[in-house]
Parts: sequence; C-alpha cells; structure tokens
Amino acid sequence: NPLNLQDPGLFRQQCLIDGVWCDADNGKVVEVTNPATGELLGHVPEMGEAETRRAIAAAKAAMPEWAGKTAKERANILRKWYELMLENTDDLARLMTMEMGKPLAEAKGEVAYAASFIEWFAEEGKRIYGDTIPEHQSDKRIIVLKQPIGVTVAITPWNFPVAMITRKAAPALAAGCPMVIKPAELTPFSAFAMAVLAERAGIPKGILGVVTGVPQDIGREMTGNPDVAKLTFTGSTATGRLLMEQCASTVKKTSMELGGNAPFIVFDDADLDDAVEAALASKYRNAGQTCVCANRLYIQDGVYEAFAAKLAERVKSMKVGNGLEDGVEQGPLITEAAVRKVEDHIADALSKGAKVLTGGKRHALGQTFFEPTILTDATTDMKVAREETFGPMAPLFRFKDEDEVIRLANDTEFGLAAYVCARDIGRVWRVSEKLEYGIVGINTGIISTEVAPFGGVKQSGIGREGSRYGIDDYLEIKYMCLGGL
Ligand code: ADP
Repeated sequence: NPLNLQDPGLFRQQCLIDGVWCDADNGKVVEVTNPATGELLGHVPEMGEAETRRAIAAAKAAMPEWAGKTAKERANILRKWYELMLENTDDLARLMTMEMGKPLAEAKGEVAYAASFIEWFAEEGKRIYGDTIPEHQSDKRIIVLKQPIGVTVAITPWNFPVAMITRKAAPALAAGCPMVIKPAELTPFSAFAMAVLAERAGIPKGILGVVTGVPQDIGREMTGNPDVAKLTFTGSTATGRLLMEQCASTVKKTSMELGGNAPFIVFDDADLDDAVEAALASKYRNAGQTCVCANRLYIQDGVYEAFAAKLAERVKSMKVGNGLEDGVEQGPLITEAAVRKVEDHIADALSKGAKVLTGGKRHALGQTFFEPTILTDATTDMKVAREETFGPMAPLFRFKDEDEVIRLANDTEFGLAAYVCARDIGRVWRVSEKLEYGIVGINTGIISTEVAPFGGVKQSGIGREGSRYGIDDYLEIKYMCLGGL
C-alpha cells in the first residue's frame, strides 16, 4: 500500500479494457511522480492505437444492452457510483493531491464537485424528453426522439483529474452511451480509481474504459475510428484545434473545453473586501491552474491602490507547501515547464514596466513551488495581457471607464469566464451583456456547479458541461414522420 490509502484496492497501475485490467501490448510503462516531492508514485501502461481500438470495440459491443436499459435502471447504477465516490472521498483526494499537488482540502472539494455531476446526470437522464410537432399535412404526424449518440471518447487534463472525467462520463452514461477515457498522463491514478468505483457500482464491462500511454497515438485512434461518434476534450486550445482537425475525417461531433484568459474587473463602486475575496478564490485556487482563473485583473482608477494593498495583505499570508500538510493553501505547480511559463510572463512584464508587489519568484521550498505573486502597472503590450499564465500570478491593470474596460476585456481570442465586481445593478447588467464570455461571475470568484452550464465562446470551446444542457452533447435528434393516417 505505497500511497497509504484506506482502501489499497483503489490504487491500480493497469488500464481497464472490456472489463479487464491489463498492461500495454508492448509491456512498456510510463512513470508518474509527485510534483511536491519529486518522488515516483508508480507507473501506468504505455498503450497506443491497438489497445485503444480494442477499448472502442468493447464499448460498441456493450452499448446495446446499456442503451436498452431504462433511464431509471441506469440512474440507479450511476447513483451507486456517486455514493461510492463520496464514501471514498479521503482516498480519492489523497491520490489527487499526490499526483498533481493541489491542497487536500481543495482535492476533497473536487471529489464532492465531481460526484455531483453523477448525481445530477443520473436524474437528468430520466428527463430526455422529445417532442411532437403539429403536422404540416393532415394525414401525417411528426415525432422527435432523442437517442444516445453512440460510442464516445474523452481526453481529459491534469488540473481537475476527477471532475473532468465525471463532467463527461456522467452525461454520456446517463444518456446510454459508453465512453473510453484517456486521462492526462500526469494524473492517471485518479482516473483508475474512478474506474474501480464504477465497476463496484455495477457499470457493465466495456461501458467505461480507461487507456493511458502515448497521447498522440491514443488520440489518433480515438479521432480516426469510425465507430466513435463523439469526442469530448478538455485541455489547451492548441491540442483542441488539432483534435478537431483529426475528427473532421470521420465527421465526429465534438465538445471542446479549451483555454481561457479571464478578465476580472473591479469597479469603483465594488465592495472591496468582497472583491478581494473573489479575486483570491478565482486567481489562486489550484495555484492558478484552472481555465477559469482570473488572468487579467482590471481595477478602476479610484480603487486601484486600495484594492492592490488589500489583495497583497491576503496573498502574503497564504501558506505554500505540500498539499498533504494541514493548512496549506497553495501546492506546487504541475511541472517545471509550468514554472518557466510563469517566470517568463513575470520577466516580460517587468521588462515593460510592471512592478512586483509581492512574490515574483520560485518559492524557497524548491521543486515546482512558486510564490503567490502580484504585479502592478500591467499594460496591454505584456504577455500577461494575451496569454493564459496558468500560475499563481495576478497582474493588475488600471482602467478609467466602462467602455474602455469592456474593450480591453474582450480583446482576446478566448471567451470562457469573466468576472465583474460592482454594486450598481445597471452597470452590472450592461457590462455582463457586453462581455463576450460563456460565463460571467458577478461579485464572486467561484462559478462552477453541476446545475449551471459551463463552457466558452470564441476559441475557448464548443458545447456546455453540467446543467440540463450538458446531456444534449451526448444525444442525437431523430425526427420520425408518420404518414398514411
Ligand atoms: P495541458 O497544457 O493542460 O497539458 P494539453 O492539451 O496538452 O494541455 O493536454 C490535455 C490532454 O490532452 C492530456 O490528456 C494530454 O495527454 C492530451 N493530449 C495532448 N496532445 C494530444 C494529442 N496530440 N492527441 C491526443 N491527446 C493529446
């Protein structure tokens, strides 16, 4: 029991294909390490196209029986999966913290959040209503059915190792579709643990497969295999574009949750203490490694200094450390490359006139730990204005009025989340309508919940996850025209 889990059975180092836990055909493995310590945690199979093809074939074979169950029968099994996740919260959270570094409290929060999608979609599966449409000719009747789209595949990132799986697998399975998942190579153990619990819940063999290995090879098979109806992806915009291109050859439906570049706007009339708390939650959660993290903080002239001072006071007191330790608020970044990107954005900003208010460099703890950072005097010519930093660094931009800040906020190819702090309801409404984003957080930095539609516009993505809309991505519409009445 190397990872000290309460239930060692949740730690698997093999993939799940057609209900069988197995190694790669070539016997090769990929190592997985703990970013907080650099320690080897274990290894996972280095699979490729052949194994992925088998997982897809198994899913196809298993689908008729699963789709043939009633929604309530599927819901009962999914409900069991949800309950098992909650019962195993401590182990799932521990695995996640060890794989990717987030503080244990955040990891536990993610387990609850992730599980909520299973509960939600188990119920939504019962409400996949069709339509009857008033006929266009008197001897005909028109009926609309919604049917499961078919075999689905998912490629998921490392920043939410559990939730990014349930947001996809729950609606797919609830709708009657099997799913083959390729988790991020950095966080495969969370995915395997989820698959163990799915088996225990009674999800039949073949309905949920997990493969790990060479991303390009697995991705090529997933996107090229004609038996796959749909790809759902969360990750970088660059990879998303590539996968969409690959899906074009077989015209697959895709859902894409890609990068963001979230503006966080604080107006003069905001409640500053609330705005600071919202900014902290939005910017520093998961060490700044979420696609909805505030990336550019626009502060109106009149409150710029006051906001900066209050935010700095809170940021200076944040505890950085190994996420398994009590009270830690910020863990390590995921990789050395992630640290270098933050360093690069800071160096670029400083060379163009920004100043460090707090932090600004690697943390004394070493590894990939980084000081929670605030930069003031950020300007539009800096990299931080265009690119997602994906780290614990908040650049503060100054603005004068509403029109200016709307223009600045929308001046990006991304459109996932935006935040507005203000108390004037007219201003809140005007600004929220004009922001070209899929999600607007108003006087809050936390917007994720299973009951609301999560997703982006512009190059941040296609489709929505969660809410009553989230299951649509796994359904096809069939119109039946009944004639000869
Ligand atoms: P990140 O910067 O978060 O690592 P990526 O888009 O590279 O973003 O990774 C998200 C997921 O996409 C991971 O599971 C990764 O393995 C996978 N991935 C990356 N490149 C490819 C590819 N060419 N084909 C299939 N999957 C890929």
